[in-house]
This record gives sequence, C-alpha cells and structure tokens, in this order.
Amino acid sequence: MAKRFQEALKDGSIIFVDTTLRDGEQTAGVVFSNEEKIRIARMLDSIGVHQIEAGIPAMEGDEKQAIADIVGLNLQASIMAWNRANINDIKRSLECGVDAVAISISTSDIHITHKLRTSREWVLENMTKAVEFAKNAGVYVSVNAEDASRSDWDFLVQFARRAKEAGADRLRFCDTVGVLEPFKTYETISRLLEATGMEIEMHTHNDFGMATANALAGVKAGARFVGVTVNGLGERAGNAALEEVAMALKYLFGVELKVKIKDFLELCQYVARASGRPLSVHKPIVGANTFAHESGIHADGVIKNPHTYEVFSPEEIGLERQIIIGKHSGSHAIIAKFKEYGIDLSREEAEEILAKVRKVTVNLKRTLFDKELMYIYEDYLHEKRNAALGGK
Ligand code: MN
Repeated sequence: MAKRFQEALKDGSIIFVDTTLRDGEQTAGVVFSNEEKIRIARMLDSIGVHQIEAGIPAMEGDEKQAIADIVGLNLQASIMAWNRANINDIKRSLECGVDAVAISISTSDIHITHKLRTSREWVLENMTKAVEFAKNAGVYVSVNAEDASRSDWDFLVQFARRAKEAGADRLRFCDTVGVLEPFKTYETISRLLEATGMEIEMHTHNDFGMATANALAGVKAGARFVGVTVNGLGERAGNAALEEVAMALKYLFGVELKVKIKDFLELCQYVARASGRPLSVHKPIVGANTFAHESGIHADGVIKNPHTYEVFSPEEIGLERQIIIGKHSGSHAIIAKFKEYGIDLSREEAEEILAKVRKVTVNLKRTLFDKELMYIYEDYLHEKRNAALGGK
C-alpha cells in the first residue's frame, strides 16, 4: 500500500498530491458518484500521482464509503482523508483505513476571529491534540494551515514549529483565497523552510489566474509537495491543474517526471464529464485548440516544422494537430489541406480559393468544415470551366 508514495518520500522527488476528489468536488455544483470517485482514483493512480486526497470521512454516508472503497483498491498511491482539527473527524478517517490524514485549521486572524471565533492559543492547542492523536494511530500527517497566505508571519512560523514538534510530517501551505503571486510565493516559502525546516506542500487557488505559477514558485523555493486537481477544479476559480503543473515542470523546469503524460487527455476528459465542467477549447495543455493552427503564418510554420509553434507534440498527451481553415488561413495551409484529400493545387489556385474562403468565413463568422471547403472547391472549378467556355 502506498508504495509509490513511500518510495518518493525517500528518493527526494517532487510529490504530486491530487485533491480532485476533495477540493475538486468542493467546486460549487460538482458532485461525483461513488463509481466516478473510484474510477478517478484508479486513473490518478495509473497516471502516477503519489497521494490522493479522497474526501472527507466526517461527512459519513456515501462519502465515507467511497473513501473506504478507494482504500480497498490497494493502489500504489497513498490515500489521504481530510479532517478538521478534532479527534472525532480523525476517528472517522481511521475507520476508512487511510494511510494519511490532512488536519486542517485556519491560521489567519481573519479566520480565527470571524470564522472560528476563537483565539490563536485555541488553534495551536487543537492542532497539537489532533496531530498527536493521528500520529499515535500510525498515519502520515499533513497539517493544513488554512489561509496561510494571509496569516501573521510570526504566528505561522510558531504554528509550523508546534506542528513539527507534535509529529506532523508536513505543512500544507494553503493560499486559500488565491492572493499570492509567484515572487511573493518564492520568498515566503524560502523563508518558511528556513525558519521551520518543515516539509511543505503548496496548495494554491486560482482567483487571480496564478494557481499554477504559484505552485511552481513554491516548488522552486523548495516545497517538495505540490497540491493539484485535474483540470484545475476546485473552490471558486479552482486550484493548480495537475496537467499544467506536470507539463510546466517537465518543459519549463526540465524536471524528469515519472507521471504518464500520454494518459492526461483521457483523465481530463473523464473528469470534465464527471464534474459537468467541460474543457474550454483554450484550456492549457488539454484544450481542443492547443494544437489547432489557423493563422497563415503559424500554419505555414507548423506545416514546415511543428516546433516553430509547438513546444511539445500533441501525441505526447493524446491530442492531434489540426490545421484549421478560416479567415486567417494562408495559401500554404490551403495547399496542405487539399493534399490530405489527394488534390494538388497550384499556388495560383490556392490563392484564388483562399479569397473565397475568406469571404465565406466572414459571412458565416466561423471556420470551415473540410466538407465546406470541398464545396467551395467544386464551385471554384465550375466557375473556372464556365469562364473558359465563355472565353471561346
Ligand atoms: Mn482549497
């Protein structure tokens, strides 16, 4: 059980903590069936995620059952359950048989005063009791500093040190409302590592579109654990997306990853359907437009050499390259498209057809289906023939 997680802890690699089934399902309006939760857990495991945050046992009923069923799959990934900092929650988690628990409590004064309506001392005390209880039960413990990014610095450091003393294995640094930016993230995480010596997980939200960037900045600063969700699902604007973080680590940071990238598309599409949140066409990495080229200059470049406008090849994640014929197409794309159908156009013919394509696409306000392109071609041949006959 949890073999992949245990090995990664030892070999020092970056550890993916996927919370699609917890934070992802907390997206307003999203609910997975138990079958879907189990399927998603299997897919995450087969892709190579190290730890799966499977849900909240304190919710009882279906949620608790689904978590126990996921534990029963005996996956390579560690199965973590989410808890408030109280013993009863943790008991429910242990009943599911998980090997890891996340113990969550707010560290910002705005949360402590207005949500918990208590004191910093109460927070430290309850966190400590919960961590000690969980460690005595022999499970791996992440202490989640909720709203860490808006917390008083000295208190956050004190909180992390107390968690470590109580036996916690790592600190989840939660940018709960998504107010970090990458430069601040890098500085904060570097300082926190220095001040506490504690392992850190990044948990970033996308309220300003920076969840992925902040997660990566944290990793660069030394956080070994990176919290993600498939498609960036999650509360409000969502979390850092698994597929974005993984591909950015590989291509922008040059990190060797063991995750199976070629299965990303299938996973992302499955989660999109199960969550009722379709992938937008311009979604980074897995959106349908990621490898669609329309503009003349881009299509021409890609036809000559894909690397001119693609950093990685579509096959790597299970997509296909598409040359889209539309208003911004150029004659090279027209020639290439007709070649797919066994028709060799001269440059002159391509230019003449392109003029018609531009007219039609503006009228229709969209790109063309291949079939429509063929109709334009038939009309073009017809006109040409008539012109030739009329000329005699
Ligand atoms: Mn969250």
